[in-house]
Amino acid sequence: MFRKILIANRGEIAARVIRTARRLGVGTVAVYSDADAGALHVEMADEAVHIGAAPPNQSYLIGDCIIAAARDTGAEAIHPGYGFLSENPDFVAAVEAAGLVFVGPSADAIRAMGLKDAAKALMERAGVPVVPGYHGADQEPGHLEVEAMAVGYPVLIKAVAGGGGKGMRRVDDPAGFFDALEGAKAEALGAFGNDAVLIEKYVEKPRHIEVQVFGDGTRAVHLFERDCSLQRRHQKVIEEAPAPGMTDAMRAAMGAAAVRAAEAIGYSGAGTVEFIVDSAQGLRPDGFYFMEMNTRLQVEHPVTEAITGLDLVEWQLRVASGEPMPLAQGDIPLTGHAIEVRLYAEDVPKGFLPATGRLTHLAFPAEARADSGVRAGDEIGPHYDPMIAKIVVHGPSRAGALRRMDRALADTQVAGCVTNHAFLRRLVRHAGFAAGEVDTGLIGRDLETLTAPPVPCSRTRALAALGALGLDGPAAPLDGFALWQPLDRQTRVLWSDEAVVARVTVLGAERFQVSLDDAAHLIERRGGACWIDGAKTPARIAREGPVLTVFFGNGYGFTVPDPLAVGGADRVGGNLIEAPMPGLLKAVFVTAGQAVAQGDRLAILEAMKMEHVLQAARDGVVAEVLAPEGGQVEAGAALIRLEDEP
Ligand code: ADP
Repeated sequence: MFRKILIANRGEIAARVIRTARRLGVGTVAVYSDADAGALHVEMADEAVHIGAAPPNQSYLIGDCIIAAARDTGAEAIHPGYGFLSENPDFVAAVEAAGLVFVGPSADAIRAMGLKDAAKALMERAGVPVVPGYHGADQEPGHLEVEAMAVGYPVLIKAVAGGGGKGMRRVDDPAGFFDALEGAKAEALGAFGNDAVLIEKYVEKPRHIEVQVFGDGTRAVHLFERDCSLQRRHQKVIEEAPAPGMTDAMRAAMGAAAVRAAEAIGYSGAGTVEFIVDSAQGLRPDGFYFMEMNTRLQVEHPVTEAITGLDLVEWQLRVASGEPMPLAQGDIPLTGHAIEVRLYAEDVPKGFLPATGRLTHLAFPAEARADSGVRAGDEIGPHYDPMIAKIVVHGPSRAGALRRMDRALADTQVAGCVTNHAFLRRLVRHAGFAAGEVDTGLIGRDLETLTAPPVPCSRTRALAALGALGLDGPAAPLDGFALWQPLDRQTRVLWSDEAVVARVTVLGAERFQVSLDDAAHLIERRGGACWIDGAKTPARIAREGPVLTVFFGNGYGFTVPDPLAVGGADRVGGNLIEAPMPGLLKAVFVTAGQAVAQGDRLAILEAMKMEHVLQAARDGVVAEVLAPEGGQVEAGAALIRLEDEP
């Protein structure tokens, strides 16, 4: 085994590799960019080397700097994680030329699988079934169109250098072929610098089922399959193992095909052979086709670890350091069912836009495995993948695992940043998904219901009101409260730009009656838990500045208006209304020359998903509106100017 390794990555995967290395007594070296100086993986590693600026092409993608860091620190091997340099054969060659071990396959094996067309041809020769189609060298559009006709519509045009769903177009009839071809080629050229494409039969109701393989350079074994059919725009959202409905015969056939694929290229280390399955035909031993091989550890490898009880990073380190493969095929166990969800900082209702922000609060349930590269207080920045965590559960059955995931998500708390948390919860509760009707179109078919923003119930709003008065914590503030405040108070919090008005009556040290427009609730704190109307709940409140998040199934972010500041960041009596934070100027309600009264709504600024109402701090007349409605504004930007006070 190695004495010391360097991890050429960041985030959750770097942290995950370090964890196993530490357990095996292997020293660890982290590398980091300017943006990651205080990151979790840097904190966890024994040593850390700065390698450059935040953009990946100035740090995590500079192979020479990383190799130099390994040599300077005396690391014997480099673990690439996934993404970045993990599937770059030139990097592998450079690592080996520097006398270091690359934890992964050879440069040749990566090259063999690097382009989809060459990989398909190779797999055909190795007797692995491939999706019917054309993957020849003739790229003349007229020729491709003839081939598409021969394959039969609908077809899928794919970039041979593709990845991440880029350069991919579905074409339903000949009329749309040339436009789609042009689009796919342009996208492929931009993303990969290679505009060659292949044509595939479009598999209706496709399921994505992949097989985890492991090789020692000569022989390979498989560690069963994962179903990754829950996708959005060809990106995986939820993964599970085993695949729902999998039969022993089909598993054996797929496993054998995957092992053939790995052995055909002398594969070493962890890899994944991806297959597409036509679910309209059911799962049949002859109904699966090779799509591509990923020559690295996959994001979703934890579900395989959960059902086998094995540590794939340990296997990687053992095999890379020259030890034999830990288990023979027949000795690899498969127990129960595992599910993984990918928790992302993204704005789901806005088309899953990647989001940024500081995680003011972050908590995962102890009952689930949460692989994360961030801690509370960390920033999700614009430079890297906005994944916050992978949450993984294991249960004796699929239904049991789903129940555990539902519970794990309800107990997962993130504040400070918009996330896909509510979307994941809806998916996990989706009746079709629960029934095992998994295909890549499931999310698209129910997109509207799955992505609608969650609406807080009256209990959640009542808790927000209590939190706004600072009454959600331990008894302490209440004593003072009772002395000098009335026992009955009105309060106001904002949900989006809707005001939630509540009357809170203090009934005892930790008992409150909260009356809203449409409901009234008795809220009690008993033994640190929150009881509502006599029932114990898992609800929790986190507060950071004006943002109050109630965790009650979902996380609901409310804004507490600052009672001391009538406007946003306006100076008392000042003429300028400024943006209190960077954001989108969603609405401007006034025009030049208009008279306004103190407290009037002037504009709405949308920042970090919340809407902030900017009000007039005094009576006056609008002199000018300085920023256009719908525009992005910086913190402190002047938005509206009032005329000087008479
Ligand atoms: P990429 O490398 O860009 O991720 P893949 O070849 O792995 O592309 O395909 C990504 C996803 O696209 C698959 O998981 C599947 O959902 C869909 N897909 C790929 N090939 C086909 C096909 N022939 N028919 C239908 N869907 C397909």
